[in-house]
Amino acid sequence: MEELHSEAQQAEPPAPKIIGLTGGIGSGKTTVAHFIEEFGFPVYYSDDRAKAIVNESEDLKIKIKELLGEESYDKNGLYDRKFVAGKVFSNQDLLEQLNEIIHPAVRIDFEDWVKKQTKYLVFKETALLFELKLNRQCYKSLLVTAEDNIRIKRVMDRDNKTYREVQAVMEKQMSEKDKIKMADCIIYNNTNLEELKEETEKVIFAIE
Ligand code: ATP
Repeated sequence: MEELHSEAQQAEPPAPKIIGLTGGIGSGKTTVAHFIEEFGFPVYYSDDRAKAIVNESEDLKIKIKELLGEESYDKNGLYDRKFVAGKVFSNQDLLEQLNEIIHPAVRIDFEDWVKKQTKYLVFKETALLFELKLNRQCYKSLLVTAEDNIRIKRVMDRDNKTYREVQAVMEKQMSEKDKIKMADCIIYNNTNLEELKEETEKVIFAIE
């Protein structure tokens, strides 16, 4: 009896279920992610972490400098986003090689983060969930979507960009139609923030 008791005490808690949270430009995925945190669930922001990791990891620094040159980091040793963007902008091959350096590092960082979580659900926010097939590593995928014109208008207001500029980014992304086909859960974000929050609550607490 005593032995059973101590075994039970040592048992690892079950690993949390990972929900991949995604959406195209201006869909509202970051807004939804913030609501999710308000409802008490942890969110891993892949893009933010990628931006941090390139400065935190010495190993990445070395690999990126080898690929793109010393100028990839400024005189203070910080990642020079502008320089790197200029290098890879019209060079698909270089961009892929850069991604092959950064994406595995983000994956490991995410796995470490998951190990520290104690909630039964955790969310991974990433714009490229389906494109990088990261949905295969998730328990479920959650897509935030809205009509194109609404998304464009929101990004124009947020980033002070022209209609054409936002549309150009949108056209390069996977179509909403394809994403809707692949998603397990969908939040339609065509109205106001209040309704978005209500819908978020409904959807996340319905995940079994
Ligand atoms: P990106 O991929 O471009 O970073 P995103 O999917 O993370 O975009 P958000 O930044 O969450 O989108 O939302 C885009 C903008 O639209 C933000 O300024 C946000 O405050 C606003 N927004 C999102 N949803 C709504 C809504 N339902 N009503 C009003 N404004 C909204």
